[in-house]
Amino acid sequence: MVIDSLEFARRQDCLSGHLRLGALQRLNDVLFDADGHLDYQIAGEMAGNNAFLKLRIGGPLRLTCQRCLGPMEFDLEVSNQVMLIESGAPWPEDGQFGGLEDETCDAIEASRELDLLPLLEEEIILALPIAPRHEACQPPAEADLSRSVSPFAQLARLKRQ
Ligand SMILES: [Zn+2]
Repeated sequence: MVIDSLEFARRQDCLSGHLRLGALQRLNDVLFDADGHLDYQIAGEMAGNNAFLKLRIGGPLRLTCQRCLGPMEFDLEVSNQVMLIESGAPWPEDGQFGGLEDETCDAIEASRELDLLPLLEEEIILALPIAPRHEACQPPAEADLSRSVSPFAQLARLKRQ
């Protein structure tokens, strides 16, 4: 997945397909498991003299809950654009479109051999919650503790089944 980024934008090319989760090494560190895939779409676009890549990535993920360490379903939906800066051209300043504080548009250096996989992976990781947690769950240590102090609770649970 390597493109000539400026050409891609000028031609208003479009690429789409599936991303296998197992192929995304950095993302795997935060996933509960790496089964499945995400859908992605990349579209080149020009606005005046500026070249952009519009990125859309979506699909279900299973994150690891930071409290109970169990799986947590998360519907990923990324919609972002990246401004391509030609090497040597001025970088957008803070506060400008595409600048550091702009959450709707990142800037990257244009490349004739832009590898899309790390770019997509970065966008996915940025879109994840920092500390994913179920709305209500128990840390595993506490769950074990309550079981050991109250054998009757466990018995009652068995009877109900
Ligand atoms: Zn949990």
